[in-house]
Amino acid sequence: MKTQVCISGGGIAGLTLALKLAQCEIDVTVIEKDRTPSVKYKGELLQPKSLEILSKIGLYEEVYSRGFPLKTTAIKEIDGDRVLKEITFHYNAVDHPFNYALMVPHETLKSVILEKAKSFPHFHYLRPMKFTGFKEEGVHKRTGMLESKEEGAIEIEADFFIGAEGRISPIRKSLGIPLKDTEYNHYFLTVSFPRPESLTEAIMIVEGHYFLGLFPLPDQQVRTVLLIKPEEYKQMKREGLPSFYDCYTRLFPDLDGYVQQITSWKDIQLMIPIRHNAKCYVSGNCALMGDAIHSVHPMAGEGMNLAIQDAHTLGDLLCCMYENGDLRPEQLKLYESVRKPRAEYLSKLSHQSALAYSYWQPFWRRIRTHVLKRMETTPSLHFKQMLNISGLGIWKETWIDRLVQIGMLPKGVLPKVTNQERHLFDEKDEQPWKFQS
Ligand SMILES: Cc1cc2nc3c(=O)[nH]c(=O)nc-3n(C[C@H](O)[C@H](O)[C@H](O)COP(=O)(O)OP(=O)(O)OC[C@H]3O[C@@H](n4cnc5c(N)ncnc54)[C@H](O)[C@@H]3O)c2cc1C
Repeated sequence: MKTQVCISGGGIAGLTLALKLAQCEIDVTVIEKDRTPSVKYKGELLQPKSLEILSKIGLYEEVYSRGFPLKTTAIKEIDGDRVLKEITFHYNAVDHPFNYALMVPHETLKSVILEKAKSFPHFHYLRPMKFTGFKEEGVHKRTGMLESKEEGAIEIEADFFIGAEGRISPIRKSLGIPLKDTEYNHYFLTVSFPRPESLTEAIMIVEGHYFLGLFPLPDQQVRTVLLIKPEEYKQMKREGLPSFYDCYTRLFPDLDGYVQQITSWKDIQLMIPIRHNAKCYVSGNCALMGDAIHSVHPMAGEGMNLAIQDAHTLGDLLCCMYENGDLRPEQLKLYESVRKPRAEYLSKLSHQSALAYSYWQPFWRRIRTHVLKRMETTPSLHFKQMLNISGLGIWKETWIDRLVQIGMLPKGVLPKVTNQERHLFDEKDEQPWKFQS
């Protein structure tokens, strides 16, 4: 079998890239090992940059109609009935047409992308089919090996092979690209159920070591994530669902009568957060995307967005390469030069957010809430925070920012944000290959 681009993995990254390539009339084949869509929770929050990308690939209206928009994200620190601090970050701190987030069920998003891709004759989808590795290990000429119960072993030749298989990526493994892992001292329980009508924005409630994130979904549902200590999982299961309900209703009393609609532990998914980063994204005629090269702590809701953004950048580059008839594999390095610094920065931000909730002593809580309140009430810090998580640009924090955050310097030392636009990514940042001489 022959194709121009072979993508191993039909997750959000693989499908987004495939659609982009099919739109450029590049022959693309997606290999997906799972026969049916996954029932596992895998991220639902689309950040502004991902919405912009969906708009560019002609899917915005369809996705928006299946989602629930969020304008803000709030953090409420409580002690019993007392509210200690309430902090709200606004997406519209960034002056941009896509200055909000959208909650969309993961499999819904995938099916919208897949249906659109299927409408292009250059798109081919092999499912269920597993990518097992390469036959030859030449750097510029490789033959991929596929396998399925029905069709047995198949060989596939391609100009480029893309690894988008998530954390356990056979392509990354066969390229010998190592990962650097970070583990955390907590787990999450996640489940969605019907929500009260009053719950229309994202809110995180924090008390002691408990952290409950509530993210409204369409169809009057809510995605919930509860941070727990690892040893609590077994204990909660032993005590039965009432201990789970109690936790939710204590942290957010409005959920009484709603959380009880979960009647089996089978509906509640255990999530063990992990962070990993690959040393490089490209080798010879292979490139890697999404969780195959970086998985981030879910605290900042970035994983799925990084996957979409990788796919869009790589897709733009490949379209340009085919258009110019320049298929030199070393050109793929341009993809890495755009995406790696951004993904690593967002991975660091997600990691820092995770650390902020990894220590629950009152001293740390006071520092955390103080810092967050200063960020909320200092316009340039508020803008930086929302810009960085939006994916629309990067304006890194400085030591002066940090000193203002902890109150060692007054807010007035920070410059006013007069020209937001210069902090957004421009065409040269996004597509440097178009500016090569
Ligand atoms: C429990 C959990 C919660 C998460 N929460 C969030 C969140 O709140 N917000 C957020 O933005 N992100 C979240 N994420 C991360 C997000 O789901 C991932 O970053 C995103 O799905 C990555 O997309 P991907 O396409 O790279 O990988 P995946 O979604 O893992 O897709 C990989 C695909 O490749 C297929 N595959 C694997 N091996 C092979 C093979 N050998 N041959 C063929 N196909 C293969 C798999 O079946 C799968 O379909 C979460 C992830 C998990 C696991």
